[in-house]
Amino acid sequence: MEGVSSKIKWALWLIWSGVFPAGLYYSYQFDPPSFDSWGLPLCLIALAVLFSFFPFTVDNTTIFIIHWINLAAFLTYGLFFEVIIMQMVLIPLLFRSGMNLKTIYRYALNSSMMLVISIIAGATYYFFGFSVTEDSLWKITAGAALYIMIHIIFNHFYLYFFSRIVKNGFPFFSRDTLFDYLATLLSMPYGLAFYFLLDQIGIAAAFYLGLPFLAVAIVLRLYNNSEQVNEDLGKAGRIGHQLAAQLEVNEVLDLFVEKLTELMPVDYAYILDVEQEDQKLTLLRRFENDKIESTNLAPVLKGEGISGQVWVSGEPVLHNKKIEWNEKVEGYMPRDIESILSLPIKRNSKIVAVLLVASKRKNAYRPHLVPIVDLLCSYFAVAIQNARNHQTTLTKSERCALTGLYNYRYFDERLGLEFEKLEKGNLKELSLLLVDIDHFKKINDTYGHQSGNDLLRSLASILHERIGDKGILARYGGEEFVVLLCDTPKNEALILAENIRSTVEQTTFKTYHDLSDKREAIHVEMTVSIGVSTSPEDTDDAQNLMRNADRALYIGAKRAGRNRVAAGV
Ligand code: GH3
Ligand code: MG
Ligand code: MG
Repeated sequence: MEGVSSKIKWALWLIWSGVFPAGLYYSYQFDPPSFDSWGLPLCLIALAVLFSFFPFTVDNTTIFIIHWINLAAFLTYGLFFEVIIMQMVLIPLLFRSGMNLKTIYRYALNSSMMLVISIIAGATYYFFGFSVTEDSLWKITAGAALYIMIHIIFNHFYLYFFSRIVKNGFPFFSRDTLFDYLATLLSMPYGLAFYFLLDQIGIAAAFYLGLPFLAVAIVLRLYNNSEQVNEDLGKAGRIGHQLAAQLEVNEVLDLFVEKLTELMPVDYAYILDVEQEDQKLTLLRRFENDKIESTNLAPVLKGEGISGQVWVSGEPVLHNKKIEWNEKVEGYMPRDIESILSLPIKRNSKIVAVLLVASKRKNAYRPHLVPIVDLLCSYFAVAIQNARNHQTTLTKSERCALTGLYNYRYFDERLGLEFEKLEKGNLKELSLLLVDIDHFKKINDTYGHQSGNDLLRSLASILHERIGDKGILARYGGEEFVVLLCDTPKNEALILAENIRSTVEQTTFKTYHDLSDKREAIHVEMTVSIGVSTSPEDTDDAQNLMRNADRALYIGAKRAGRNRVAAGV
C-alpha cells in the first residue's frame, strides 16, 4: 500500500501489542461476563463467524452485517464478551476483503481499532446509565441505538483518518459508506429482537432469527446474479454487433469504451497495445471521468504493475477494494480508484492488448462480469483488426505506391467534392497547380529508370514539405504532380508555385547512377515548370480548371523555355 512504510507497520504491531492485552484486561475487569452455560456463548461466536462468510450483496455492494449479533452479545453478556466476538470475526472478515501476508499488518490496525471502538461504545452505554440487565424497553432501545451509532461514527472517523495517513483518497462522504451505515443502523432493531428472544428461548433464537437472515443473504445474491448475468449477456451481444460494423480504428476504440461504461460503472478505462519487440504496453485510449484524455503516458513494461502482470499471466484480474491492489501498482494510477478489472485482449489466442477499467466505488465489478467483458474483448480485437485492414486497403487504393502521395483517382474525387463546395458557396476560391519535371526523359535516359524513381520520390517529399496542410497534393501521373489549394486566390497560388520552382532549382538531388556498373553516387540538378489556374476566376468547371492549368504549363511555361511558373487565363 502506498504510504504504509515498514516503519508504520512495525508501529502498528507495537501499538497492537499494548492495546490488545490492555483492552482485554480492562474490558474484563470492567464487566466480567457470567455464563450459566457455554452453549449459548459458543453458539453466538459461531453465528458471528458464519455470517462473516455470507455478506449481503445489493446493487454490486457487499455489506457485512454482523452488528445485530454483537449487539445481542453485548446486551446479554456485557462488554468483554462483545470484544471477544468482534476480535474473532475480524479474522475471516479481513481475509474476505483481501488481506494477505503482505498486508497482515491490517489485522494489527483493525484489531486495535475495533477494541478501542468496542470499549468506547460500551463505556458510553454504561455512562448514560444503561446497564446490560436493563429491563425498561425504551431505555434498552435508546441504549442500543446509541451503542450502534457510536460504532458507526467511530468506525467512520477511524477509516477516514487512516486513509488520510496513507493518502488513499477515501472521501469523507460517499454513497457507499452511507449505504453501509444505513444497513448497520437497520441491524439495531434486529439485534434487539435477537437479544429478547435469546433471553426467552436461548440457543433456538439463533435458529429463528439467523436462518431467515442467512436465507435472505443467499437469495438476494442469487437473484441479483442471475438477473444481472442475463441482462449483461444481452448487452454484450448487442455491443459485439455494433463493434463489428465499425470501419475506423478510432471509432472502434471510442465505441468500445463508450459501451463499457454502459455495461458497468467505469470512471477510468485504459486500452494498452502490446508491443512485442519492445516488451512494453503503450496506451491506445485513456478515458478518465467521462473524458478522452491524452495517451501521452510512459509505457508499461511487461510484468510491471497490474496490466503488465495481466499480459504475463494472460488471466483476468478483479479487485474490488484499493487495499487488494495497492501494493501491485507501479507507475501511473489515479488515487481515488477502488475497484479494478483488467483483462488480456486476445486474437487467435495471442495477447494483442490489455484492458484496464476502474471505478471509484468499492465492489463495483461482480465476478460474472469477467467472462462477459472477456467476450467483449474478443469482439473488440476482431473489430480493431477489421478496421485496420479496411484502413490499409483504403490507403493503398488512394495512394501512389512510389511516392506515398495521393493518386490520380483520389485527387479526381476530391476535386469533384471541392467543386461542389465552391458551387454551394462553402468555398470562395479553388486554385490548382500542375507541376511537371523538365526534360525528365533525358534524366531517365542518362541515369536509368531507377534513378529517375529516386528523383521522383525526392521531389515528392519537397512538395509535401512545401505544401503541408495548405492543399491536397497528388501524383497525377508519370512525372506530373498536382496541388489543389482551397480558398486560395490566384496571386497566393502563384507565390507558392514560384516558391516550389525556386526550391527545386536550388536543390541538388542525390541518387545512384543506375546505368553504370559501379552504381556510384551522383548529384543531379533539375527544374520544374508549373501551370496555375483558379476557379471561379478562370473557369467554373472542374475539368476546365485542369485543362486550363495544363495549357498554362505547356504554353506559358514549357514553350517559354521551362523552369517557369505560368498562370492560366
Ligand atoms: P518536358 O516535360 O520538359 O517537355 O520533358 P520530359 O522529358 O519530361 O517530357 P515527357 O513528359 O514527354 O516525358 C516524361 C518522361 O517521364 C517519360 C518517362 O521516361 C518519364 N517517366 C514517367 N513516369 C515515370 C516513372 O514512374 N519513373 C521514371 N523513372 N520515369 C518516368
Ligand atoms: Mg516533363
Ligand atoms: Mg510530363
